[in-house]
Amino acid sequence: MADKRDYYDILGVDKKISGDELKKAYRKLALEYHPDRNKDAGAEEKFKEISEAYGVLSDSEKRAKYDQYGHAGVDGRWSQEDIFRGVNFEDIFRGSGGGGGGFSSSIFDSIFGGGSRRRGGPQRGSDLRIDLAIIFEEAYKGVEKSIKLPRTENCSTCGGSGAKPGTDPQTCKTCGGSGQATRAQQTPFGQFMTTSTCPTCRGRGKVVDDPCTECHGSGKVQKKRTIKVKVPAGIESGSRMRVSGEGEHGSAGGPPGDLFVDLYVKPHSLFKRVGNDVVVGADINFTQAALGDEIMVPTVDGKVKLKVPAGTQTGATFRVKDKGMPNIHGYGQGDLHVQVNVKVPKKLDSKQKELLREFAKASGEKPLKENEKGLFEKVVDGVKDKI
Ligand SMILES: [Zn+2]
Ligand SMILES: [Zn+2]
Repeated sequence: MADKRDYYDILGVDKKISGDELKKAYRKLALEYHPDRNKDAGAEEKFKEISEAYGVLSDSEKRAKYDQYGHAGVDGRWSQEDIFRGVNFEDIFRGSGGGGGGFSSSIFDSIFGGGSRRRGGPQRGSDLRIDLAIIFEEAYKGVEKSIKLPRTENCSTCGGSGAKPGTDPQTCKTCGGSGQATRAQQTPFGQFMTTSTCPTCRGRGKVVDDPCTECHGSGKVQKKRTIKVKVPAGIESGSRMRVSGEGEHGSAGGPPGDLFVDLYVKPHSLFKRVGNDVVVGADINFTQAALGDEIMVPTVDGKVKLKVPAGTQTGATFRVKDKGMPNIHGYGQGDLHVQVNVKVPKKLDSKQKELLREFAKASGEKPLKENEKGLFEKVVDGVKDKI
């Protein structure tokens, strides 16, 4: 954010200026830049700026804070509405000789957005967010999880009114229940309507004379509640689910917020998900690899038969159709990819060694001497080194 200009500079006045002189300076600038009279680009911004400067400097408390701490002393401490509530525009523009153009009554609404903020009316409750971890199988089949969740709810003792049971909150006399204080102010340019939150009821539109003992008049209580969350089959880790209406309760009859569930699927020791497909490893021994066989491989949901052809090499991958993750939209399913690992025997007895030497000979491989390490022993040693 750009540095804010000094309020005194904005109004072009000295720091020691008195209230009356300040008013005069502001009045002159306000007449020049009021958006109803000045259609130049930037006039509205300028008007807003000088009005804010005047709003602070014309209030002794705010001015003292500003003099001591600068913008840090007033920024965020008062909203723009607060600043303007203290400004008596009627007083400022009295006797200015008329403006002709006429201020539109909604000018402050359009500049400061006061018209769109209905504080007294129903307000939607806040959204909530939680993390939820499930296991791989739960992501595969879908699961319903019960979650204990603290949230703000309307007090059941008083029904959210904040008034002791048997009594009723009374309509605020200051604002007539609207929650907003609207002041009409006559100026030479026409009528101003300034709107701010009603100070008596703080925007709620009702006042409670006899507060509910359960919620101390707030109408809200913190409650731990168990919420059932339906996780659909096929959901991916990192997905966000929305549970409608399970956020905080709204105010004054407003709807509740939503609950957002960020889902995390714990990794599986056998299966790895790739899109909707699942990869799994399967060990076979070297004779199975050489001769071919039918083996059982694990899927997320039981086992399936897989034909391994003769001459299968380690690392070869076979596809089992429709044995992956279900599509989250309810149709179709991914595939299972089985990656074969050919196991080399680690211990051979003398007969097996003899047979393998025979085999090597028959294959035209160089015959091994008795005292030499066998081919497979060498391989095993190599594997051991890698582990
Ligand atoms: Zn209550
Ligand atoms: Zn009120």
